[in-house]
Amino acid sequence: MKTPFVTLDQLKAITAQYPTPFHIYDEKGIRENARRLKAAFAWNPGYREYFAVKATPTPAILKLLKEEGCGADCSSLTELMMSDRCGIRGEDIMFSSNDTPEEEFRLAAQLGAIINLDDITHIDYLHRLLGRMPEKMCCRFNPGGVFTLGDTREGFQVMDTPGDAKYGMTREQLFEAFRQLKALGVKEFGLHSFLASNTLSNDYYPALARILFHLAVELQKETGCHISFINLSGGIGIPYQPDQTANDIAVIGEGVRQVYEEVLTANGMGDVALYTELGRFMLGPYGHLVTTVLHEKHTYKDYVGVDACACNLMRPAMYGAYHHITVMGKEELPCDHKYDVAGSLCENNDKFAVDRMLPKVDIGDLLVIHDTGAHGFSMGYNYNGKLRSAELLLREDGSVQLIRRAETPEDYFATLLWD
Ligand SMILES: *Cc1c(COP(=O)(O)O)cnc(C)c1O
Repeated sequence: MKTPFVTLDQLKAITAQYPTPFHIYDEKGIRENARRLKAAFAWNPGYREYFAVKATPTPAILKLLKEEGCGADCSSLTELMMSDRCGIRGEDIMFSSNDTPEEEFRLAAQLGAIINLDDITHIDYLHRLLGRMPEKMCCRFNPGGVFTLGDTREGFQVMDTPGDAKYGMTREQLFEAFRQLKALGVKEFGLHSFLASNTLSNDYYPALARILFHLAVELQKETGCHISFINLSGGIGIPYQPDQTANDIAVIGEGVRQVYEEVLTANGMGDVALYTELGRFMLGPYGHLVTTVLHEKHTYKDYVGVDACACNLMRPAMYGAYHHITVMGKEELPCDHKYDVAGSLCENNDKFAVDRMLPKVDIGDLLVIHDTGAHGFSMGYNYNGKLRSAELLLREDGSVQLIRRAETPEDYFATLLWD
């Protein structure tokens, strides 16, 4: 069972003021989850979560997470600018990008962000740009091959193919990169890697930590570089399907602690700070896309047409991703109707659900599409001239705050040159 964090009565009041579609976020859920994460890694004095801004790039969200002690993980110029305007700068920013343009490196350095290099050639590129090297630098590792957790329990299996991923440096390049950076005056080193996405397993972080911790020990021994932090990046997943079990962040934190003691502390590296760059885990479950049923259509299949479309939430169209849907006010009714829930784009993949069993849906019903808090609004686009929706924040006191207004046609036309 997935239960929305808003009730039908609340939504009726909200939609009287803010028309659908919109994304709404749950302040209470976000804060409680951030505190659980912090508690899970409290054993590591330098621990820091750098929220992956690309997941939900909205100032109110960044500020809320800043209040919970999080920094920002930026990957582009505008994300850097947004973090800066939210008062997140200096080492409160990790800049983890790839194929990076000059102006982005320049701004990251100007803000004093910790720069994470995706490739060995970026050392020269950055050095030429800045005429110096920041004292603290990070490098991204890609072990290649296939990453599996070896946990065959259904729903726990994690497999990804770093060997096909464009990110990060090989092992050999990493040793060389550390030597080059040291020669250029870098004093503090970090190690970063992202091996699998949306992992539903408490074993992913400990397994990744084992790889990175062993590598860090070798790197420090062989190059003499002082490794002061290790960034486990993102990748902790959330249960999109109602029958999936959520990760237990306390178990994950404890799993990483054991590997830390065994590998780092045992090798005299008990001073290494751990960083994370979670996006989906921080926000995913705490966002809903709320949409109204506009039409019903019965041809070869039964369709429900809603006022949101893939421009508001691309994951189902792009990856065939499952997002649970609650028909508000009909939670107790049997799911005895099979529908495709479609948006209005001229693209047949514009469907939030295919062959989904739902209660009988009627025109005017409000639908909550779950788990849209991360990589939801932010992956939005303007195809078919569709306008981006508003974003709302459900405050802890039950009030609702507009944190991004909906686009208007004027916004859409603003970049056009008419003659
Ligand atoms: C996307 C991304 C993240 C966040 O990933 P989640 O799966 O949302 O946790 C973190 N770090 C980097 C470098 C990323 O590209």
